[in-house]
Amino acid sequence: MERVEKKLHRLKSNQILRDLCSETNFSVSHFVQPVFVNESIINNEEILGLKDNFVMSIEGSIKQIDSDIAKGVRNFLLFISPQKKSSKSFNLGFHQKVISSIKEEFKDDINLWTDVCLCSLTDHGHCCLFDNNQSIDLDNTLKEISNIALSYAEAGSDIIAPSDMMDGRTLSIRKTLDNKKFSMKPIVSYSTKFSSNFYGPFREAASSAPSFGDRKQYQLDYRSKSEAIRASIRCAEEGADMLMVKPGLTSIDLINEIREKTNLMVGSYQVSGEYAGLCLSEEKGLLNLNESLKETWHVMRRAGAQYIITYGARLAKEMGF
Ligand SMILES: [Zn+2]
Repeated sequence: MERVEKKLHRLKSNQILRDLCSETNFSVSHFVQPVFVNESIINNEEILGLKDNFVMSIEGSIKQIDSDIAKGVRNFLLFISPQKKSSKSFNLGFHQKVISSIKEEFKDDINLWTDVCLCSLTDHGHCCLFDNNQSIDLDNTLKEISNIALSYAEAGSDIIAPSDMMDGRTLSIRKTLDNKKFSMKPIVSYSTKFSSNFYGPFREAASSAPSFGDRKQYQLDYRSKSEAIRASIRCAEEGADMLMVKPGLTSIDLINEIREKTNLMVGSYQVSGEYAGLCLSEEKGLLNLNESLKETWHVMRRAGAQYIITYGARLAKEMGF
């Protein structure tokens, strides 16, 4: 394993990040709100099952972030879908425009995290490139993923969040960023990400459903705890600054062990299917959404989650966080 320079300063560079990393309290500072921007969208479209979450245009996302800032949210995780998909060469012009437009508008009032993956770019919807035998072409996949991460950093993204689960991607991205003078740009790695049934509403929102097969070749098997822990250790060794488990509630048993083994902070992603389950149950009069969300967030926190990515981050402040 080639060594990369460890930089503890990366996570101390601004107040929003320092608040995010504080361990002794639990407030709206610890929440991350996903934001979906799609090049084909003119008017906001509500995401099925995710109450008050929309797929938006650039202008729509700026209005939404502005309103979320008033509700105390300072961390946003951006998912960008371009109109044109491809199997090998990717045009990142729209991505750069989204990131730079949002950063120009809000500057250092927010930390903009960008999800780095190939699935919203590829015509087949997988998180990787394939060779002629339909096997994962890892070398070219890592090259593309690292280029995407670099272009997001250049456009002004504050945090790079690779979600692809490809072997070696964190090291490849870290080296690419370091070589181009982005050595202070933190990588928050989706380090323990399961192949899960709970991603349904998201795939519609990010237009990233695979057109053939599934993602079991590269995402984790929920039956295997040791592999799940090992995946996070690997990202830590490759230079990730923070880690993540995903889905949220079905991964809480892993958080403390990953923290202990890596000495890195670990966040929990309350994924779309988990969130939609609560929204739809409320719609049927079966539970109270806010109270149920509060319970799930406290459970994630109790299990050791340092930060929580949730479609309800914008509700946290009015719920007393
Ligand atoms: Zn992906």
